Amino acid sequence: MVFSKYKDFVEDGDLVVAWIGRNKLLPLKIEDGQTFHNQYGAFPHSEMIGKRYGQQISSSAKQGFIYLLQPTPELWTLALPHRTQIVYTPDISIIFEKLRIVHGTRVIEAGTGSASMSHALSRTVGPSGKLYSYEYHASRYETALQEFRDHNMLDEINGNTHLTHRDVCKDGFETEGLPLKVDAIFLDLPAPWEAIPHLIKHVNRNGTTRVCCFSPCMEQIQRSASALQVSGWCDIEMLEVSYKQWTARKSRVIRVDDSIDRLKEVKRHRTEGFERRKERQRLEKEFAESAENGEELNDSQVSTPSEPPSKSPTSTEKIHKRIREGDEEYEWSNVARVDSNLKNHTSYLLFAVHLPSQLDNESESTE
Ligand code: SAM
Repeated sequence: MVFSKYKDFVEDGDLVVAWIGRNKLLPLKIEDGQTFHNQYGAFPHSEMIGKRYGQQISSSAKQGFIYLLQPTPELWTLALPHRTQIVYTPDISIIFEKLRIVHGTRVIEAGTGSASMSHALSRTVGPSGKLYSYEYHASRYETALQEFRDHNMLDEINGNTHLTHRDVCKDGFETEGLPLKVDAIFLDLPAPWEAIPHLIKHVNRNGTTRVCCFSPCMEQIQRSASALQVSGWCDIEMLEVSYKQWTARKSRVIRVDDSIDRLKEVKRHRTEGFERRKERQRLEKEFAESAENGEELNDSQVSTPSEPPSKSPTSTEKIHKRIREGDEEYEWSNVARVDSNLKNHTSYLLFAVHLPSQLDNESESTE
């Protein structure tokens, strides 16, 4: 898979993720002779080839810059062309942990959608694992198929991903008559409870199979939970990822005495300003009157010897100075703040487990 390899330098034909800004990443196929344009100017691909991944690339007119990053499933999630709602990395992480997705895991995923989840699954299960992905929307299926081909993910070209064009709620998950058994199942469908009865054929006979249903509303979760229960799944639980990123910062310690000093200072400046304005107005008036009378003013009369502001350490300088975080002149305490830039809750996550012993009980009870 193209996203699981690392290399140092950008080559002709590489798929890169171009970092344009904090919230703007774009997929870019490097082709010698092509040029990428944005509001900061032109970026000829020929100038990108041979550059180190992560290096800053300036536009021809040096008006702006971008970074070329090596794609990973996490970056792809932020850069991919959206065809549907997608699953983001904070949810993907907890899903992988709960479904125990590791190298070698065999997984069913429906529907494929924009393939954000598919890329993460394919990378993590690796060459010894397998991803069976299903999509019933014809053009989304075609687009995903082409994308998987371009990213060397398809099993027919030595990848680990098998994509099927199918309505799984109606026709289930059977692939070419093979006895498909998996360790994990991920359902991101509008009506997962219609697909759940088909899953029982694909649970492991001698291992555990785990399922996750990703649904945006509680009514859907309730219907899926009931369907799972009826099909013999256990340990049913629901999680919601309420992701918050905390940043460590320094906050300036301001004591009561400091505040009082500052208030006094502000007041003194206001008064000084008021006095100076009054003095200037008096002079202007005098000047105008003298000019009317045809008199000339001497230097000492023009430049008023109004008192210069005192240079105490807590005067203008301290009031207007931009204080840098951590400036040793001041006292600081360490605090934690929330960074709100990351995507938070998108859906509820319903998990359940199917144990091998349950299969024995079920077959006994049907005998
Ligand atoms: N998990 C995907 C991702 O991270 O990009 C997004 C999935 S999207 C929300 C749901 C997809 O399921 C849609 O593309 C839709 O066409 C597909 N779908 C809905 N019902 C389906 C069904 N019965 N069988 C197969 N695919 C279905």
